[in-house]
Amino acid sequence: MEVKAKSKRIADLKAYLEVERDRLRRELERVEELGTDEERAGLGNHMADDATIVFEQARNVGMHRAQQRMLAEVEDALARIDDGTYGVCRRCGNAIDAARLRAMPMATLCLACQEEMDAR
Ligand SMILES: [Zn+2]
Repeated sequence: MEVKAKSKRIADLKAYLEVERDRLRRELERVEELGTDEERAGLGNHMADDATIVFEQARNVGMHRAQQRMLAEVEDALARIDDGTYGVCRRCGNAIDAARLRAMPMATLCLACQEEMDAR
């Protein structure tokens, strides 16, 4: 019973992570397109509000980095589901609490280890 409940939970998480991965990939493509459009706009119109363009580009770069990091975490979680190490703490090897995984599906540390890391 417990094993069955666990695999159901993992299957749900996997479905969620796959949706999230696809969404992030689309977002990344969109941000990349926006980046090039603004570069073109900046070159074409020297009277344009350069500060706005610079700001927009900086924001895009920041967003882009955050999304790349998120995507890497999601892909990492999916890989761990496939190789059976998902939900196992990377540091101490104990199972990560199910409630914690629900709240943070990409968690790689159990709560105790996370708190120790945060306390440093
Ligand atoms: Zn741990």
